[in-house]
Amino acid sequence: MHMWVSGKNPSSNCLRVLPVIILYDNSGVSARRTRFELNFQPPPIFRSHQPSARMKFPHLLLLLLFAIPAQAQDTVIRAGTIIHPQDGSVSIDQKITVTNGRITAIEDWSGSMDDSVTDLSDRFVMTGLFDAHSHMALVVDKRYDGGNYYVTGLLNPTAYRAVQGVANARNMLESGFTVIRDIGNNGNYADVAIKKGIDEGFIPGPHMETSGRIIAPFGAQFHLQPEKPGLGNPEYFFADGVVEIMKAVRENLHFGATFIKLVIDDQRYIYSVEEIRTAVREAELAGTYVSAHCWTEQGARNAIAAGVRSIEHGPNMPDEVLQMAKDAGVFLVGTEFTTAGLAWADPTADISAFEAEHLQFVDRLRRAYALDLKIVYGSDAVFFDAEKGRAYESFDVLHSWREAGVSNADQLKAMTSTAADLMGMSDERGALAVGLRADIIAMPANPLDDTNALYNIDYVMKDGTVYRHPGSH
Ligand SMILES: [Zn+2]
Repeated sequence: MHMWVSGKNPSSNCLRVLPVIILYDNSGVSARRTRFELNFQPPPIFRSHQPSARMKFPHLLLLLLFAIPAQAQDTVIRAGTIIHPQDGSVSIDQKITVTNGRITAIEDWSGSMDDSVTDLSDRFVMTGLFDAHSHMALVVDKRYDGGNYYVTGLLNPTAYRAVQGVANARNMLESGFTVIRDIGNNGNYADVAIKKGIDEGFIPGPHMETSGRIIAPFGAQFHLQPEKPGLGNPEYFFADGVVEIMKAVRENLHFGATFIKLVIDDQRYIYSVEEIRTAVREAELAGTYVSAHCWTEQGARNAIAAGVRSIEHGPNMPDEVLQMAKDAGVFLVGTEFTTAGLAWADPTADISAFEAEHLQFVDRLRRAYALDLKIVYGSDAVFFDAEKGRAYESFDVLHSWREAGVSNADQLKAMTSTAADLMGMSDERGALAVGLRADIIAMPANPLDDTNALYNIDYVMKDGTVYRHPGSH
C-alpha cells in the first residue's frame, strides 16, 4: 500500500485546514525507505458512510480531496529524554504540548497516559534536523556522469527532476530532516516548485530554503564546447560583471529564490570581491543573503571580504583564512565528503585520490572546529540509492565529522541551532522551545552517545503534523 497523507496528524486529533490526498494501491511490495503506511482514521464526514473505521479498498485507486475544519486542539507528547543541542543538555520525562503547529508548553510530566498522549517515554527527543547543503532535484546518474553531472542535466528535464525531488524531499523528512537548504542544481527552478508543493500541503517534505539557479562566471561548474555554449543553461545562471550579476540576483529572487548561491571559483577566472559584493548588496536589499561555493583559497578570501553569509565546501582554507571567516562572522558549510561518497559516481577511478580529498576535508573541519568557527552540517548528497534513500547518504557525512573529532553534541548543534542561525530562522526553528514551530524527532538510542543513532529516527513531526511514528515504517 502506498499512501500519501498531509494535513492530518495520524496520532492525535489535531485538525487543520489543508487538502488531504490519499492514494491506495495494493499492487505490490513497497521499497523499504519509501513506504508510508498508517492506520488512517477518516474524518467524521466520511466515517458515517464507512462500515469500518479503517478504510480498505484493495485494487482500487482512490483520490479524495477535502478540507478539514480547523480546531485548536492540543497534541501532548510524553518525552523520555529531551536533548537540547544548543548547549548539549538534557531534560528527563517531559510533557510537550503542541497547539496549532507550535510548541506551547514544555514541563515535567504530569497527568495520566491515555490514547490522546503520544508516548515517546522510551525515546530520545529533539528538534528536527537541518541539512544546509542539499540538492533535492539533482540525482547524478553514474551511468552517464563519472564524478560530474553535466550529462545528467542534459538528459533529465526539469519536470522529471522535480518528481525525483519530491521523492527525495519525502525521504529526507521521514528520516528526520525538517529543514533543508536547497543550494541549486535544480534545472529550471524545480526547487521552487517542490517548496511550493510542500508549503501548500500537497506533498510531504521538509521546510525548504531555495537558491533557485546558481549564479556563476561563464561556464560555472561545466566545461562547455564553443559550438554549444548554451548547454550550461538553465542549470547555471552565467553572470559576469556587476551589471549582469545584479540582474541575475534580481531575476533569481523574482522566480522564487529565498537566498542567493554563487559559485565563485570553478574556472581559471573567478569572481572578484567587487562582483561578489554586488550580489551581497542586492540580496541584502531584498532581505536575504549570499552563500558562496569556494574551492580555492583565493575564492574564499574574496567571498569573506565581500561579506557572504556562508562558505560552502572550502577545502583549501588555511588557518589564517578560517580565522578571517570567524572574524567576519561567516558560517562554514563544509560538506565533508566520505571516501565512499566521492567514489560512488566513478567506481572505475583510483580510490586513493578520493581518500586524499576526503582527508583534506577532515583536516579542514578539525582546524575549523579548533578555531570555534560557526560550522554547519551540509551533506551535498546527490546520488540515489533505492534501498537506502537520500537521507541515508546525507547521514553518512557524519562519519567525516567523527573522524575530525567533533563531539556528538556539537554534531547535533551543527545540524540544528547553528544551522537555524545561518538561515536566519532561530526565532522559528532550530530548538525545542516554547513559541517555536513544532519540529520534533525521536529515536530509540541516545545521539549524544553516538550520532549513528540518527539512522534510526522513528518519529517525525513538522509544524505540528506527524509524518512518521514508531511502527509506521
Ligand atoms: Zn552542492
